[in-house]
Amino acid sequence: MRLSQMLFVTLREDPVEAEIPSHKLLLRAGYIRRIGSGVYAYLPMMWRVLNKISQIVREEMNATGAQECLLPQLQASELWKESGRWETYTQAEGIMFTLIDRQKRELGLGPTHEEVITTIAREMIRSYRQLPQNLYQIQTKFRDEIRPRFGLMRGREFIMKDAYSFNADEESLKQTYQQMNRAYSNMLRRCGLAFTAVEADTGAIGGSSSQEFMILAAAGEDEVLYTPDNKYAANVEKAVSLAPNAEPSPFTSYEKRETPGTPTIASMCELLNCPPSATVKDVIYEALYDNGMTVLVLVSIRGDQDVNEVKLQNELAKWAQHYEAKALFSLSVPDEESQKKWAAKPLPLGYIAPDIGDDYIRAHENIASQFLRLVDHTAVDLKNFATGSNESGYHVVGANWGEQFSLPKHTVDVREARAGDRAAGDSSQTLKSARGIEVGHIFQLGTKYSEAMGATYTSEQGQELPLYMGCYGVGISRLAQAAVEQSYDEDGMIWPVAIAPYHVIITVPKISDTQQLEAAQNLYEQLQEAGVETLLDDRDERAGVKFKDADLIGLPYRIVTGRSLQAGKVEVVERATKNAQEISLDKVVTTLKHWIDAALT
Ligand code: ATP
Ligand code: MG
Repeated sequence: MRLSQMLFVTLREDPVEAEIPSHKLLLRAGYIRRIGSGVYAYLPMMWRVLNKISQIVREEMNATGAQECLLPQLQASELWKESGRWETYTQAEGIMFTLIDRQKRELGLGPTHEEVITTIAREMIRSYRQLPQNLYQIQTKFRDEIRPRFGLMRGREFIMKDAYSFNADEESLKQTYQQMNRAYSNMLRRCGLAFTAVEADTGAIGGSSSQEFMILAAAGEDEVLYTPDNKYAANVEKAVSLAPNAEPSPFTSYEKRETPGTPTIASMCELLNCPPSATVKDVIYEALYDNGMTVLVLVSIRGDQDVNEVKLQNELAKWAQHYEAKALFSLSVPDEESQKKWAAKPLPLGYIAPDIGDDYIRAHENIASQFLRLVDHTAVDLKNFATGSNESGYHVVGANWGEQFSLPKHTVDVREARAGDRAAGDSSQTLKSARGIEVGHIFQLGTKYSEAMGATYTSEQGQELPLYMGCYGVGISRLAQAAVEQSYDEDGMIWPVAIAPYHVIITVPKISDTQQLEAAQNLYEQLQEAGVETLLDDRDERAGVKFKDADLIGLPYRIVTGRSLQAGKVEVVERATKNAQEISLDKVVTTLKHWIDAALT
């Protein structure tokens, strides 16, 4: 492609809308344009990158025997009601765009495709002889994200590869899952990216095991905890660890103390002169179930630890049946406004004790009349601890379970693991923290969707059994930007050869110099013939401008038809290292071809 004929507009200044380097660079280099909130146009260079990533993904999926298809983006609400996710996706998470057609039927724009594919499986898979199956598609997904940001990282319209497997049993599902695990590692390695696979929470998609593939980068939205020996890595949402030992309590007898203005653990510990690990913190959460039931949850946890809301959500999901609901709808820490809906009288916030009375809850048919009282493991063995007194301005010290407070019946693990904790599997390892960009996520779904939607098959023994499912996603457009976030410098992007929009740019410093232009045009043709994807910068611009643009767009190699032409040579610069060397005209094509082939294997 000749740059002089391309829609090529670069910006010198960082666009104000962009916060992180990859977003700034993609906008500045004209790879993408923002059209609306979380909605971007992929311009020609970006489209080449996205196609290359898609092709690598496609090849690795095909190599496992998975079959490509394309599913509809318009999805009838009935399907989502069958799986029980319509409410969650349109109300609780509110992530699905919905619309009403002229027949007044409700539809959603596909944020994901479990419902559609399960319908197909239900109709087409009858016998164990047809199993296993794995179908995938590469398609635009729609999600009304609460905070679309960072360009393609969190868009409301983005490209995903999603695959769904159907297996006869758990064993077969595990095999497919392992296959996908390897395929994902291959894809990311071939894209030229450094990545880490981590244990993950399964979220609203559901299911048992899941693993995320993370590109480590400071701008990542996820926190990863890992051991230095790399034997353990998990998203913080899921991570487990050993809590540090509690420090001995300085209190020896039970007393109520006046502690004005100390609603936080830090302020209370300072006043009482005690370590946070000798205190119990009592946190109220408001859980809303899908049948409209509000349940007030009181979590007692050691004062120096924090509640991991994802773990708490998973815990509360198990209680759905108890409250005659199917699923947890939402979880929040009640603010003044929401307390008005259920509190019978003002709560002693910051001074709550484990035995706060159920009479704080207003009687109402849609509000559970008692607190659901949970205690985290960390608080169970504490002795002589300090905690709230249910009276503002006062705490109690020297308290014990079984004496002043009865230990809540339900012990849970809802503690957030942190960097610095000892690893659960190997206490000689201390967890470290890094930021990651989630580019892929694989799940063992089990029978959640097949049971809800009645997708069964007949086994060899003639039994009718639910299909075991797995689902496997890669954020193609997020991955493209993550590649930039992982590799750039002060002058611009640095694309890995495998997914660069072009391999080489030929810069003609002065196009009025016919020798320069002719040499460039010859090389351009020869390179194209040799299968080297080449951009020819034949614009009538100053050399400085061209060099800056070449660095900004980040193609792996630059050829300059400059002064060295007198000696029958051109300068070849590697973008990543800025190493420059002069190569004679007759060797340029073979040399570059050789480098590129080497980078692609
Ligand atoms: P996140 O936690 O980042 O919201 P998710 O768990 O919702 O991701 P999945 O539903 O597993 O993501 O989707 C599969 C992949 O699609 C993710 O691993 C990610 O790479 C990509 N993805 C998800 N949401 C977005 C988005 N809003 N914009 C771009 N890519 C996305
Ligand atoms: Mg999401």
